[in-house]
Amino acid sequence: MTYIAAGWTPYILGAVVALGLFAGVLIHEIAHSLVARMKGIGIHSITLLIFGGISSMEERMPDPAVELPMALVGPLTSLVVGLICMQLYT
Ligand SMILES: [Zn+2]
Repeated sequence: MTYIAAGWTPYILGAVVALGLFAGVLIHEIAHSLVARMKGIGIHSITLLIFGGISSMEERMPDPAVELPMALVGPLTSLVVGLICMQLYT
């Protein structure tokens, strides 16, 4: 029987979860940035934090036709990543 808290298992699991979270945040921010670039907005930088990221882009006149898809694509991408991971797990 393998015990989840035995030996190196907690450290390996912790590292895998942390990397997975980081990868999820990165994919989420890249999705925002790709849509922004498709709409012709330049990206200055993407900053990754522990529980989220910040995509720094050019300031523009607020335009709902640009802002709405740019805002929605992040959570939608995270949802798709989650569904893919669930499929991989089962
Ligand atoms: Zn986002």
